[in-house]
Amino acid sequence: MGERVIVVGAGVMGLSAAHHLVRRGFEVVVLEEDTGIGGSASGGNAGILAFGHLPLPRPGLARKAVRWMLDPESPLYVPPRWDPGLWEWFLDFQKACNPARVRACMDTLGPLGHLALAEWRELSGRFGFAGGLRPPGWLNVYRTEAGRREAEHEADEARRYGFATESLDAAALAVREPAFAGGVRGAVHFPESVGIDPPACLRALAAGLRDDGVEIRTGAAVERLLVKDGRCLGVGLRSGEEMVAGSTILAAGVWSDGLARQAGLRLPQQGGKGYHLDLEHPPIRLKTPAVLTEVFVAVNPLPDRLRLAGTVEFSGANRRLRRRRLEMLARGAEGWFVGLEGARRLGEGCDLRPCLADGLLAVGRAPRVRGLFILAGGAKVGMTLGPACGRLIAACLAGEEPPIDMKPLDPGRF
Ligand SMILES: Cc1cc2nc3c(=O)[nH]c(=O)nc-3n(C[C@H](O)[C@H](O)[C@H](O)COP(=O)(O)OP(=O)(O)OC[C@H]3O[C@@H](n4cnc5c(N)ncnc54)[C@H](O)[C@@H]3O)c2cc1C
Repeated sequence: MGERVIVVGAGVMGLSAAHHLVRRGFEVVVLEEDTGIGGSASGGNAGILAFGHLPLPRPGLARKAVRWMLDPESPLYVPPRWDPGLWEWFLDFQKACNPARVRACMDTLGPLGHLALAEWRELSGRFGFAGGLRPPGWLNVYRTEAGRREAEHEADEARRYGFATESLDAAALAVREPAFAGGVRGAVHFPESVGIDPPACLRALAAGLRDDGVEIRTGAAVERLLVKDGRCLGVGLRSGEEMVAGSTILAAGVWSDGLARQAGLRLPQQGGKGYHLDLEHPPIRLKTPAVLTEVFVAVNPLPDRLRLAGTVEFSGANRRLRRRRLEMLARGAEGWFVGLEGARRLGEGCDLRPCLADGLLAVGRAPRVRGLFILAGGAKVGMTLGPACGRLIAACLAGEEPPIDMKPLDPGRF
């Protein structure tokens, strides 16, 4: 057995890292605070693997965001509160909302998307996810001219980085997906992307990893990093137990920031809270996962339920559910389909997207502290890119040449 590695967090990032590390002969221990697997953003997301997706900051979004912020019914809500860290984050975010920064982000997110597509196929073959990876892609559906322009812009960017897209007018969309009600003007189809069942995938991945020899401990909250003489020696748990390891990877989502700070590393993430609502299969015949552009709601037809997910709220690193925001999912989607009203609810929740203001993730070695690695900042594409990021971090630990340039992802850039 090789060197011991502790991975903090059993979301998609942590489990993907564990998968690649155990294959390289490392002894891997994953520590998860929750009592089960799949309770985090990695279980509560929309389940659309959107390869070639644009970063969070976009030209014009900062201006729109200012208009939306204080409106609890808008797609992006920021309840008023005193939080200098949040306002600093918004200033950085606003600076990143320009074409040059989007291009720079896409120069990394494009290749990362191709790597992620290959990694998801490999994971699915290996772990046989329930429902599998379900083609055919996803649809960016719009009702207005502004929505069409936004969807087509995203398609142009995806094509520029080698991803296929197909534009459908209202008639072509109606043939393909008769579930949509009148008023829908068209869609862009991303055929290479896939829909998944997030908690089912995560649980299958965890079960497979245990078979491969990875130790996954749930109910194990990491409270401290053991740092001495510029080296991370392991972690201290809330229970008082200390665990030593040659390397430690922080993959604790938005909660990595506090732990990283103990090692002198600034990792300025904000939690972009999003909601999900699972409905017992209502009588709509949607085959392809879709994002309803104007209302920011994703709709994913899973084998046993229909998942609605979306909205963004910056209200701190907590999982407090605002019912009014949750209800926006149902209300937002209802007008787009015939037959959604009155569907029985099977589950609901809210989770935090770990968002860095500059639109990229943080993947790599922590600066100044040896033996510490970071896997953070998945934002709204973390589920899609997790397996690729796991591959990159494993390459780092194993001293291999990474499959893509990791410099833009350097966790020391803040
Ligand atoms: C509503 C919504 C919809 C989304 N839709 C999509 C989508 O369609 N496609 C897509 O690609 N992405 C989507 N995302 C984003 C994606 O879900 C996240 O970017 C991704 O899951 C982040 O993964 P992670 O492993 O970094 O963090 P998490 O999933 O948050 O996992 C971190 C884990 O660390 C654990 N942890 C935290 N602190 C500690 C500690 N101190 N000790 C031990 N364990 C700890 C947590 O309990 C958690 O299990 C969506 C997110 C949301 C909320």
